[in-house]
Amino acid sequence: MSGIKPARRWQPAFYPFKREKFSRRVLAKTELIIKGPLFGCRMCGNCLLQETAFICPMECPKGMRNGPCGGITPEKNCYVDETRKCVWYAIYKRSLKTGRQEMLLEVLPPLDWYKTGTETWGDVVRQIRKVGTGMFIGSLFSNDKVKKTEVWDSVFRTIRQPDWWQGDSEYHPPVNSEPVSRLAKELKEGKFVVATEVTPPLGASTGKLKRDIESVMPFVTSINFTDSSSARPKMSSIACSKIAVDLGAEPVLQITSRDTTRSGLQGDVVGLNAMGIYNVLCITGDNPVIGPTPTSSMNFVDIDSVQMLWILRRMRDEGTYLDGRKMKEPPKLFLGAATSPFASDPVLQAIKDTKKVNAGAQFFQTNLIFEPDRLDQWLEQLYKRNILDKVHILIGIAPLKGYKVAEYLHTKVPGVTVPEKILSRLMNAGESAPEEGVQITLEIIDAIKRKQGINGIHIMTLGWEAIVERIVKESGLSK
Ligand code: SF4
Repeated sequence: MSGIKPARRWQPAFYPFKREKFSRRVLAKTELIIKGPLFGCRMCGNCLLQETAFICPMECPKGMRNGPCGGITPEKNCYVDETRKCVWYAIYKRSLKTGRQEMLLEVLPPLDWYKTGTETWGDVVRQIRKVGTGMFIGSLFSNDKVKKTEVWDSVFRTIRQPDWWQGDSEYHPPVNSEPVSRLAKELKEGKFVVATEVTPPLGASTGKLKRDIESVMPFVTSINFTDSSSARPKMSSIACSKIAVDLGAEPVLQITSRDTTRSGLQGDVVGLNAMGIYNVLCITGDNPVIGPTPTSSMNFVDIDSVQMLWILRRMRDEGTYLDGRKMKEPPKLFLGAATSPFASDPVLQAIKDTKKVNAGAQFFQTNLIFEPDRLDQWLEQLYKRNILDKVHILIGIAPLKGYKVAEYLHTKVPGVTVPEKILSRLMNAGESAPEEGVQITLEIIDAIKRKQGINGIHIMTLGWEAIVERIVKESGLSK
């Protein structure tokens, strides 16, 4: 995993898509022979080691190039392959130890598939020549940290941030501050918002979906439609969102990078406004390892959720596709991201969340929270990073129907922890477990409402849509 201990590559190194010149093949082989054992190098063609404390991010089984997902296990292992430590946890820890944590905020690009499998050292040498070989060698021995950083940045930044990407570590406020949706408007007005989720149907019939939407819409501001959650295919989020619009409800379209390519993402999103969809939640998505068999590719590397936000923000604010083409009428979007406040140390989590806000997230919907008091440390870290006034936070809650559901969430869903106290309450409640689950939910909402920096709740129904009305009314959040 590190430059000191030999690394274990997760999947084979990429191979070039076309035959390369002999000299480049020799250079690529040499690079692989050296960087393979040292870093687990997969020859991605756009080396990020400078930014990632010299630990290769391509060791991440979810292909994350911009920080960890929310599924790290309590032992700090990867839930996709529990035999390996979470590589991003290691990157964050080493960056903090060596004072490189601010480098983690730079939004890093997706792979350029034309370059995968090819050597990168040639690029480095060419760039060093441009900057001045003498100056570069001098910087290696210099004690002047600022000068050293400047010289190294002029070599490596140009390589890792190609012209078509130009990622940075800055916050980019939306060009148009007018709300584009009801959700955006109510959050901007400072209302404590209630969002919920309706489970997409397994089959092509829309009867139950429509009934569920109609049963919750009078009580909530917006409704999320998951994008094949737990990697189990269901009716698409786009189809459900359009049905919601037709019924007069406000959808939040969820898009997972797991099932999306960069061209598919841009093509889908540019047409959303025509269907009346404005809210988009960008998530990486559960790895197929937790889904049904036969298992689809677990090695998804085209884009991650931070890159999705960066692409969509630029489409909206600059009217530009990733390839640089301009559009006359850019889509109007309210962009959201998922976050998992308890996934790891709050300091580390806040770095990832800040990066998402910088990339374009305007609202967060959190993973399920059953211990609201633990939110304080996370909120404090977001406050220190000065992002609480730049993003609206909706806390994910779920009414638990019984002990089995709670236990499933606790043991099977990455990033979710149900405390022992709640598990025992549900276990001891016997037949009254659904009622106990409602009381637990109301207590959690009550605690959340008192916290500064929280802008609403997101009720994940887990198929129990009928309970939304009661939860909203009894928690005093009726519209
Ligand atoms: S970032 Fe890419 S080129 Fe660099 S070590 Fe990892 S796989 Fe190899």
